[in-house]
Amino acid sequence: MTQRRSDSSSGQTRADVPPTKLEDMDHSPASPPDPAPAPLAPAGAPTALASGPRVALAARGLTKVYGPVRALDGVNLDLRTGESVAIMGPSGSGKTTLLHTLSGITAPDSGTVLLGGGRHPDVEVTGLDEERRAALRRERLGFVFQEGLLLPELTAVENVAMPLMLNGVPRPEAERRGAGWLASLGLAGMEARRPGELSGGQRQRVAIARAQAGEPDVVFADEPTGALDSDTSATVMDALIDSTVSRGRTLVVVTHDDAVAARCARLIRVRDGRIEEDAR
Ligand code: ADP
Ligand code: MG
Repeated sequence: MTQRRSDSSSGQTRADVPPTKLEDMDHSPASPPDPAPAPLAPAGAPTALASGPRVALAARGLTKVYGPVRALDGVNLDLRTGESVAIMGPSGSGKTTLLHTLSGITAPDSGTVLLGGGRHPDVEVTGLDEERRAALRRERLGFVFQEGLLLPELTAVENVAMPLMLNGVPRPEAERRGAGWLASLGLAGMEARRPGELSGGQRQRVAIARAQAGEPDVVFADEPTGALDSDTSATVMDALIDSTVSRGRTLVVVTHDDAVAARCARLIRVRDGRIEEDAR
């Protein structure tokens, strides 16, 4: 289930990528020492043959101000392919703003986000207008939110198939892939159930299947287990990490839960819009 949408929109976006922007910028003092940095290829460089971890997402100097609040205050961050990253911090510290800025939901006031990873042309997310960011999110990113945000009137398999169909996959094929994802997340036989007929943990696994179905480069999850009990939370996190990292994709998960964070390979603590700790 790897064949994906056409290249038309990434072909368009690629023309917007400044080739060397990141190399001119300083790394954050909060970033850990990095003995073998994997440089982002210039736009258009052949990347298909590259192997090993690469920079999937690179943020430089991200700021976002809401009135008197500096929700992001100069964040620098590199995320590697195949990396699972937990973001923790007090309420209001900027976790959601960071996630939304990295993923192109929110435009920062200043700073850049570059999506790399080598499967597709590198693209500067912050150089795109809202419409192109929306297309980029649909085609290259996956999202899991706390409440799943499934469409209640659609069945489980229709919920998973929906974003594929929005990307142009014909319905039978989208539902076939959707059923495959549901099965791989332990939900075989539940394709025809609506969200109201599933438990909270099952609903979150449908949401994970939906996020994964488009073969995203990066999966973003904001408190994905916040509404679940601890046993169910562990099952859902395992499903989320396995389905992402085992396939060489990148996972960014905001959580308050130490047990959830402990399942990730890297922990970033945010406070007052800054990264105060970054540990592998
Ligand atoms: P967290 O997810 O860590 O709880 P957020 O990123 O949601 O924090 O918010 C960081 C700060 O920015 C908070 O002070 C919050 O009130 C403020 N903020 C976030 N989004 C908005 C918004 N759309 N309008 C105004 N203030 C916002
Ligand atoms: Mg939040």
